[in-house]
Order: sequence, then structure tokens, then C-alpha cells
Amino acid sequence: MQPLTQTYDVALLDLDGVVYIGAHPVPHAPEALRQARAAGMRLAFVTNNASRPPERVAVHLTEIGVDARPDEVVTSAQAAARLLAEQLPSGSKVLVVGGEGLEVALREQDLVPVSGADDGPVAVVQGFSPKVGWPMLAEGTYAVASGLPWVATNTDPVVPTDRGRAPGNGTLVDAIRTATGREPVVAGKPEPPMHREAMLRSQATRPLVVGDRLDTDVEGANAAGADSLLVLTGVTDPIDLVQAPPRLRPTYVGHDLRALAQPADALSVRAGEAKVGDWHAVVEGGELRLARVPADGSRSGGPGTHGSAVGEVGVEGAGRGGDGADEFSAGAGAGGAGNGGAGADGAGDGGLDALRAVCGAVWAAADAAGEGSGSSVDPVSVRAALDAARITRPSTRPY
Ligand SMILES: [Mg+2]
Repeated sequence: MQPLTQTYDVALLDLDGVVYIGAHPVPHAPEALRQARAAGMRLAFVTNNASRPPERVAVHLTEIGVDARPDEVVTSAQAAARLLAEQLPSGSKVLVVGGEGLEVALREQDLVPVSGADDGPVAVVQGFSPKVGWPMLAEGTYAVASGLPWVATNTDPVVPTDRGRAPGNGTLVDAIRTATGREPVVAGKPEPPMHREAMLRSQATRPLVVGDRLDTDVEGANAAGADSLLVLTGVTDPIDLVQAPPRLRPTYVGHDLRALAQPADALSVRAGEAKVGDWHAVVEGGELRLARVPADGSRSGGPGTHGSAVGEVGVEGAGRGGDGADEFSAGAGAGGAGNGGAGADGAGDGGLDALRAVCGAVWAAADAAGEGSGSSVDPVSVRAALDAARITRPSTRPY
């Protein structure tokens, strides 16, 4: 099987939680992206953050060891500016509630950024910048209240910082929304303008969306009909993936960007595909059970509790000391070496096959229940299975 780098022509890469976290690269990202390029895959760096223009984003990427050109960076500011340029005559004035990233994007589209509601704007654009304060929000409110078109780059409620979560553009948009009672048009992920911008600029014919968020990256890919890879280096916990409704389910799941070098069949995740590698997940009576069944039929531990060559974990196996849990642990650890080379860290596959099997079972059960979510399966049993399978996240920095 071909690796993803051969199956897709362009990786549309989210940045925060995928390539970097704040001022630091995500572990393995620089090397994995170098290898992806060497394999012939083109890269586009696609961010909902509108604060910095592409040149500065490219400089930051290069500083952390990821070679990037400005023309490979796509921002929600660019998507917003294109939306406005399609509606407004060239040279139109646009009130900016935001910073340099928006100003540069507007000028690129022959629009003129202004800073006051009395400066003759014919539209308002709002995007994140740490410089947005009350005076800027007030100007935006006057202009939006007067009935001008209002475009928001994105509505992410928080923005990650070195000190934790801080108010993001969605929170700042809420201020003008509350003050005016109006709703903006949104350009960024998961809305279609952002994906369209990335496709236009990268000229992708078969893109792979790579992200750490289900509700922006993956949802945007699904809305556009593009395949997606979820990486676990950012905000998404494995249990979020298991409980995802269909519109938030990715095509593939991997620990980090090294997944790009792996074949599709080592990463794919689909409702109903509940036997993956050595793992078999079943939902019975609303509870998830996960078992390891080594391909060679050998037992991985002591006597099983069910009289079969299966190490099994249900809710009753959630404890640290039960027979089932002991047997399970032996299989998940030492047995991982036999997982067909999909492992990324030399200690087995980090539970990836188990996670894929769990998703396959829980998604199918949820779909059969007609709820479109994982809520029909007892979350305690899901957490127990994920814990027992020792599904690891390469980075657990909270934000
Ligand atoms: Mg992200």
C-alpha cells in the first residue's frame, strides 16, 4: 500500500496542535514534513488565526525547523478578504477589527483597510489580533449596527497561548454580536470559504486535510468532501474521537505527522470496522468490550476469564488489578511489537489499532441507534477500554 504522501498531492496542514504549539514545534513534525516533501507531497499551512500575515507565519515556521514559503501559508484573513473582494468594487474601504494579518490580506485584494466607522467603510471584517480592545470593538459595533456587511475570519472561542486559553476571535465577535443583534458571515474553518481558499492557493487536486480539531479541521474537510487525517498532538482526546457524530469523523487517525508516511490501511477508521490488527471491539447492551486476539492465536497472559484465547476488557476490567486487566496489559505492551510495523515509537503502535477498532464499533452502534453520535454507548466502558489499551497521546499540553 502507498503511504499517504503518495496517495494525496497536497497536505492542507492546520498549524496549532499539528505543526507547532506556541513557540515550539510539535515533536517529530519538522522531520515528518521534510520527509513528506521528499516523497513528493506538497504542503499548505492553513490557519484560522488571522493575526499574522503569511510572511510572518512562514518565518515562524522556518524558525522552528519547518521550511515554509509565504505562498504556502493560507490564513482565514485571506479567505475573508476574498469573500469581500467578490462583493465589493476594487478600492472599497473596509473597517478592520483586527490586526496586520487582515490589513495585508485586504490590500492583496485591492481593498483599503480603515480603522474608524466614520472613515467611509462599506464593510466590516473582524479577525483575531492581540491588539483588539474596546475602542476597536466600539468602531466595529457602530459600523455593524449601521447595517454594513460583516465578515468574521473565524469564530474559534479561544486562542492557545503559552499561559493557557485566552479569548479568541469568536469571543470578540460575540461582543459585537451582543451589542448589535446581528450575525457575521464566517470565512474560516469549518466554513467552505477557508477550504476553497486553500484549494485555490495550493492548486490541490487530491488534498488531505490534516488537523487536530474535529469541529474545525475535520468538519471543514467533510463539508468539502475531502479526506482528513486527525492527529492526536493537539486538542482532541481519543474519547472525543470515539464519541464523534458522523460529520466530525475523520478518514484517518494517527498520533502525529509521522502518520503521513504510513499507508491508508494502517490509519483508516470507519464505522463497522471493529477488527483492526489484533484488536476486536464489540458493543453489547450499550457497553463497549475490547479484546486482543493475537493473529497467531497465542495467549498473551494468564488464564482468560471466558475460557477462550482472548484478553478482554469491559467495564469490569477497568480496575487495575482484575484478571482481565492483567492479561490485557501484557498484550498491549509486549505484544505490540507484532503489530506489523505501524508503530511510531518503537513500543508498539501506541494503541492506535485499538482506538480504530473502538471507533469502528462505537460509531456503528451509534449509527444503528439513529442518534448520530456515540452517546448510545456507555462512556465509562469506552474510557475503560481506552485506558486499558494504553492509547498514548504524543503531547498532552492542555490548551
Ligand atoms: Mg489546531
